[in-house]
Amino acid sequence: MDFPNYFADAESSFDDAEFVIFGVPYDKTSSFRKGASQAPKEIRQASWNFETYDIQTDSDIKEIKIHDYGDINVKNLNPKQMVNEVKIVTSRILENHKFPIIIGGEHSITAGVIEAYQKDISVVSLDAHIDFREQYDNESYNHACTIRRIADHIDIDKIAVLGIRSAEKEELKEAKKLGLFFMDAFTIQKQGILNGVNEVKEYLKNNKVYLTLDIDVIDPAYAPGTSTPEPFGLKPLDILECIKSFSSNLVGFDLVEVCPPYDNGETSLLAAKLIRLLMGIVGTGTTNKA
Ligand code: MN
Ligand code: MN
Repeated sequence: MDFPNYFADAESSFDDAEFVIFGVPYDKTSSFRKGASQAPKEIRQASWNFETYDIQTDSDIKEIKIHDYGDINVKNLNPKQMVNEVKIVTSRILENHKFPIIIGGEHSITAGVIEAYQKDISVVSLDAHIDFREQYDNESYNHACTIRRIADHIDIDKIAVLGIRSAEKEELKEAKKLGLFFMDAFTIQKQGILNGVNEVKEYLKNNKVYLTLDIDVIDPAYAPGTSTPEPFGLKPLDILECIKSFSSNLVGFDLVEVCPPYDNGETSLLAAKLIRLLMGIVGTGTTNKA
């Protein structure tokens, strides 16, 4: 299989687009399995599998203006330099009043994305891990530190992490001490995703939301191709419910930690579908949505 190396139906110019997609093929800090750098290419390839029309959401992404900016060149950068490059590109997209969609790469990239935003946004992270370490492997921009770095930029009470089922004991203690809102996967399973999301919405006071989706929040049975898989995860439909529920608040999105060497393409397919659904649900079909 070899389809064009741009996201399917991303046929608009940068200037005309409502959504701008770019890839960050970076996996230098991944602690367990390498290969997330291959995800932007594999997710783009997988995107060609789908119809433009989606029966469940009654949306058609061919009516939506999407630009694929390609990948940024981060191969030879250290994590701090990579984060800075991501910030520069995201800033350009935001200055032009477009909705950025970033395909990772590992979760460390999100720190750069958030630095490009004003400090008044909220961030919702869907992740099996709390990613709240101050440092990991002597690196502040490790993928295990993403939420901590985001909390350096925006107030901690504007951050919510959903779906966790893994943390270091000290890390969890620190998160509680500093007042980070998080909800574990077991609570979500018990009370249902919509109750969880509603609680988060109330907590964030219906603010603008940037959504970061670490694919490992989904159970490895559905998304085995990830760098640090963790059993007892959410279901793909839970993620769709989240996207739908936050849709009118969303100001940006990333999907990270897909690791193509560890499956038969099913995780990239799910990632591509989720990105398409998000654009179908959030998109207005008109340019320059504020
Ligand atoms: Mn993560
Ligand atoms: Mn994770």
